[in-house]
Amino acid sequence: MNPSFIYFDLDNTLLHHSKAEAAAHKAVYEQFPELQSVQLDQWIEEYKKVNLRLWEWYQQDKIDRFHVQHARFFETMHNLELPAEKSAIIGEQYMKHYSNFWEWVDGAQNALISLSAKYSTGIITNGFSDTQMKKFQRLSIAQHCKCLVISEEIGKMKPHPSVFEYAQNLAEVPAESILYVGDSYSSDIIGANRAGWKTAWFTSLTEKNGNEMLADFEFTDFQELIDWVD
Ligand SMILES: [Mg+2]
Repeated sequence: MNPSFIYFDLDNTLLHHSKAEAAAHKAVYEQFPELQSVQLDQWIEEYKKVNLRLWEWYQQDKIDRFHVQHARFFETMHNLELPAEKSAIIGEQYMKHYSNFWEWVDGAQNALISLSAKYSTGIITNGFSDTQMKKFQRLSIAQHCKCLVISEEIGKMKPHPSVFEYAQNLAEVPAESILYVGDSYSSDIIGANRAGWKTAWFTSLTEKNGNEMLADFEFTDFQELIDWVD
């Protein structure tokens, strides 16, 4: 397809966020006996419910990032009738564990390295600057990228058009010559498609409902992406 620029999503595209998240919950659950009056599954399920709602509010500018980070553990514990006064320390420990489990999605490191040798590449990620910057450092991502775009720095999250406009200005190439590679249909594929970009949807770590028609290419193995781009 010969793009002029390839942008990648970070979480669950290059970095295996779900695996790190699950491992961090298990570690924090084992570290704090006060959590063990509920099952680990229950804990994770409640956290995900609370976290998703808080991110939606954050996306709608109803709350700030500090509220998201504080409330996700406070509310999870409160809802499960666990001692919520310990939520701050548990949240802190969770982030520590989470960062210890950061690793590449299978094949993603090789794909980024080999595609960046031939094409200009960058990252567009929804998230908080400090955390995402640490991920770039840990996986040595910046050295392969011309542009690193983090939603917090723009003040809007994907799929908001300003994120893609901002990234396209940095790339300095026409919309139709940019390829976006991401796992989230609603944020990555819809957002990039509306911006007039080409899209490659990584579906290994995502659930499909069968109504997703917009992606130019779908793949589960990064070698397929490399072959398609070349
Ligand atoms: Mg993602």
